[in-house]
Amino acid sequence: EMFGQLTSGLESAWNKLKGEEVLTKENIVEPMRDIRRALLEADVSLPVVRRFVQAVSDQAVGVGLIRGVKPDQQLVKIVNEELVKLMGGEVSELVFAKSGPTVILLAGLQGVGKTTVSAKLAYYLKKQGKSCMLVAGDVYRPAAIDQLVILGEQVGVPVYTAGTEVKPSEIARQGLNEAKKKKVDVVIVDTAGRLQIDKGMMDELKDVKRVLNPTEVLLVVDAMTGQEAAALVTTFNIEIGITGAILTKLDGDSRGGAALSVKEVSGKPIKLVGRGERMEDLEPFYPDRMAGRILGMGDVLSFVEKAQEVMQQEDAEELQKKIMSAKFDFNDFLKQTRAVARMGSMTRVLGMIPGMGKVTPAQVREAEKSLKIMEGMIEAMTPEEREKPELLAESPTRRKRIAQDSGKTEQQVSQLVAQIFQMRVRMKNLMGVMEGGSIPALSN
Ligand code: GDP
Repeated sequence: EMFGQLTSGLESAWNKLKGEEVLTKENIVEPMRDIRRALLEADVSLPVVRRFVQAVSDQAVGVGLIRGVKPDQQLVKIVNEELVKLMGGEVSELVFAKSGPTVILLAGLQGVGKTTVSAKLAYYLKKQGKSCMLVAGDVYRPAAIDQLVILGEQVGVPVYTAGTEVKPSEIARQGLNEAKKKKVDVVIVDTAGRLQIDKGMMDELKDVKRVLNPTEVLLVVDAMTGQEAAALVTTFNIEIGITGAILTKLDGDSRGGAALSVKEVSGKPIKLVGRGERMEDLEPFYPDRMAGRILGMGDVLSFVEKAQEVMQQEDAEELQKKIMSAKFDFNDFLKQTRAVARMGSMTRVLGMIPGMGKVTPAQVREAEKSLKIMEGMIEAMTPEEREKPELLAESPTRRKRIAQDSGKTEQQVSQLVAQIFQMRVRMKNLMGVMEGGSIPALSN
């Protein structure tokens, strides 16, 4: 489980709000302490944690009461939004050169996964229809050149090599010329990694960068190194100027500190993440999805947002009471259908609840169509009939009249009447879900 410890640390924060009616200055003190502890244990850098906690508590106290959404859910939502912001908000796309080959220079310390990333990146871009070439510039680790040649073969991308006796800047120059000759779209240059930052490494990188004039300079960092990764990104950016980072080994038991600190500490975005040793294990870094994973409830968050929209209606509470007491009548049914219309569709929301299964667009259309038919029949009912579905259950004459007045069949009316009794049960169950019972990550 990625970031498992962070996820459970944050969970203890929401759990402290169970049973509360609103968020207050007082009742968020304990949860905020949990959030702070969880982030520090995840190895997020201290100044980042401080700013984060401040931003979350400011908002939590200011947020009003939203009907149907409980304080713990509200806090989840605020934390989610702040996490997304912390990680840079939007996904940060790779930039491509307007003319000539796009040059991507990869740097990083030894063992972070730089060579693997070079080949993964070539494979990733190839899948997008771009022709690529790899340049083996890691002259201090002969095995790295062989490794890149093998990986290049594996993904079907040519690898330019010049052995280990040639200066890295010279290899870069030759590789770039070759790429221009071959008219490839993207040339990816692997460089030498060292065990730690030293002046020799930085000078060499500066030379290589000068020769290449790269479109992207990406520092490869290991997620397992936590906030140290963020510090490295900062240093490399100051020393040689980089455009972003690639975070590797997110599949391991990293605690989250790197993913959460890099952007805030260095000002440079994480552009891609590696989450495995296979060539296909490289993907863009999506701050929103990452936040969802950290919170362990990607889908539930969109559900809460939808529920907020619906439950802000004036009569939502009233409706809920009726549903809970099984007094749900045809008037409520009408209100409900209008609420459904307002929010798009209840079925779409149901599809977001884990365990309720996916709802297809065709099913949504079908549901909307049958709601329209029902509405027509309800309009043909007397006020008394709307309040007391029992009257219709007892009287075939009433059902016949409604069928005639609404232009539907008697069978359709009978179905509707049967349905309202079924709905009383079903709506009660649904409200049970919205109360928190079946939303795993929001409840105990
Ligand atoms: P370099 O020294 O930076 O070039 O590192 P390598 O590319 O040789 O990778 C070092 C080790 O990390 C290798 O065993 C890789 O298979 C492994 N590795 C690289 N990226 C990932 C990743 O995203 N996940 C996992 N689990 N292992 C990775």
